[in-house]
Amino acid sequence: MEPQSEARALPDAAARPPEVSTTRTRGVEERWEGGAPPAAPAGDLAADCASADGLWALPVEPAARRPECGCCSRPQKVCLCPFLPVHPLRISTHLYIIQHPAEENKVLRTVPLLEACLPQDKCKIKIGRRFSEERDIELSTVCRKSGTLILYPGAEAANLEEFILDSPVYPSTIIIIDGTWSQAKDIFYKNSLFRLPKQVQLKTNISSQYVIRMQPTNRCLSTLECAAVALSILEKNNSIQETLLRPLQALCSFQLQHGAQIRLSKEYLLKNGLYPKPMPKNKRKLRKMELLMNSVKI
Ligand SMILES: [Zn+2]
Repeated sequence: MEPQSEARALPDAAARPPEVSTTRTRGVEERWEGGAPPAAPAGDLAADCASADGLWALPVEPAARRPECGCCSRPQKVCLCPFLPVHPLRISTHLYIIQHPAEENKVLRTVPLLEACLPQDKCKIKIGRRFSEERDIELSTVCRKSGTLILYPGAEAANLEEFILDSPVYPSTIIIIDGTWSQAKDIFYKNSLFRLPKQVQLKTNISSQYVIRMQPTNRCLSTLECAAVALSILEKNNSIQETLLRPLQALCSFQLQHGAQIRLSKEYLLKNGLYPKPMPKNKRKLRKMELLMNSVKI
């Protein structure tokens, strides 16, 4: 899961036809990076689609695309391949990333880096907000397997490290949701499929190294970091974490050298009186902010 806001050039969602859940094949799909697709804030997609009726058929302007590295999906000028492992990591765990459609179009994404580090048959990306037993047979089979876990924090979630010690079936698959906190919550609670696997969470003291994207709290991790920690626990190999985090560190240091700013967490800003925006009027949102200020886990 990733935090609410980030340093990036594009708004939340690039406008496109109403979503369907899809599986991405590495390197096949080209994406917008820094171009100028018509954009709308998340949630306004349907309205936007209606008003832009027919625009989808227009040809794409080639000038808007920046050449993208087929391996790490970064623009070629800032390719991160030198920071990727020479060969994909050998792992036995299968990783499923359930990606919110808005996440796919963000400029600074961590999932392509994760994909580039792992064997193709061990890392699958499913894009969508709603998944059903009938339409998503593969996912439905995965969710029903006893060795499948879903990483989603909460009162019901077991600590991954403790869970694997007593688990009668050693976990073979882990599902991670990629989106902002509210997108991940929506995906988790509105798809009954995701309630089938054992729910686990990470109990880690590491602070996020993804410093160019604002985190709600100091302990929120990006999707890549969650996967790195979870896989090193499941594979019982700490070097996995190191290898997976190397391209993320390179990405952040490059962005910082080129003008990006370290995004202090919302928690830090609130606690130190540095939060730049007025406090929300909505009572629920205000309560959340107060909880953050008092360091209560939300
Ligand atoms: Zn590359």
